[in-house]
Amino acid sequence: MKTNFLFILSFLILMSSCKSSEKNKIDEKMMLKAVKFLASDSLEGRGFSKPGNYEAAKFIDNKFNELGLEPFLGGSFTQQFKYQFSGKKRQRMFPLKDSIANLSNTGDTLVIGGNVIGKISGKIKKTIVITGHLDHLGIKNGKIYNGADDDASGTAALFAIAKYFKQHSPKHTLVFAAVDAEEIGSLGADYFLKNYPNKENIVLNINMDMIANNNKQQLYASGLFHYPQLKQPLENITSPITLLFGHDNPDDKNLDDWTFSSDHRIFHKEKIPFIYFGVEDHKDYHKPTDTFENMNQEFYVDAVKLIVQAIENYDSYLN
Ligand SMILES: [Zn+2]
Repeated sequence: MKTNFLFILSFLILMSSCKSSEKNKIDEKMMLKAVKFLASDSLEGRGFSKPGNYEAAKFIDNKFNELGLEPFLGGSFTQQFKYQFSGKKRQRMFPLKDSIANLSNTGDTLVIGGNVIGKISGKIKKTIVITGHLDHLGIKNGKIYNGADDDASGTAALFAIAKYFKQHSPKHTLVFAAVDAEEIGSLGADYFLKNYPNKENIVLNINMDMIANNNKQQLYASGLFHYPQLKQPLENITSPITLLFGHDNPDDKNLDDWTFSSDHRIFHKEKIPFIYFGVEDHKDYHKPTDTFENMNQEFYVDAVKLIVQAIENYDSYLN
């Protein structure tokens, strides 16, 4: 009797573990192919307003279309904006359609940037915005800064997560935003949020920036110091990765504060709760060696699976 019981119990455990790994199945092949392309030399480091950056945006636009996402704004995935620089100083940002006739300051340059945004309409209007930044540092001193981890990894993760939730309908509306110009001050995220209709519907920002390069199997979910109410959905995640909390308390002497380190700060400033997923800085951070070859592919896939579980938990936990 006891043996039978144990047999049935282990069978049930086995079944449920099969089910849970099936449940978090992501298209890793598609994601790895995409991250490899985004980080390739041909995109020349995706520097803001450079041809490789535009090519990356075009690729993301096509991918969102292919995945069957709904365009976010009037039939288009791409949200372009103009930016005015006075010499090296950043001036201001405004919509592409605005006239430039009144900008007569000599020495000013205008550059065009653009976010790529798609969505999956949920059963409710309340929205979770998932972000990764499409730009990186471009070419400096003749060297390509490929930015595989920073942040081709977060950008390509958007595709896998979107594909997953196309197959597992969410309750919340999910907005997927590949934002531009993070490396020069989160201009893209800023423009995105300033021009967001019904901002009050956003209940959470999940920001992914550098989720593919760590050899300790550790990923941080940062932001709970500010938003402790977001903790519970992160507590019952199964993953080979150790999920750590922190890097969000300005008084913590041991861990530097990441609250303002990436695009999530734009949401935080508007009092929109965020969870930032990222790894500790590593030897390839902001170096030409941040390449596809130096990423940890297995870690990356596990990190994205973990993030999918987190989003799924938040989707059922939040109102
Ligand atoms: Zn980054």
